[in-house]
Amino acid sequence: MTAYPLGFEVSCDGPDEQTDCPDSAAIPIRFGSMTARQVRADGREDGWTRRRRSGHLADLCPGCTPA
Ligand SMILES: [Zn+2]
Repeated sequence: MTAYPLGFEVSCDGPDEQTDCPDSAAIPIRFGSMTARQVRADGREDGWTRRRRSGHLADLCPGCTPA
């Protein structure tokens, strides 16, 4: 198993297919969160969501998540 010291970065895919995230947001990586699953679990606590969009999953920061 390989350790990546910076962990796995999950960045926001923006409010829709044509629009980049205005904040260029990325989930802040917490100590001990190394995998995509762990980082996304951290993000959910901060209001991040994942949505299926055009056949793939998009990660959305709290600011880009549709109300
Ligand atoms: Zn965003």
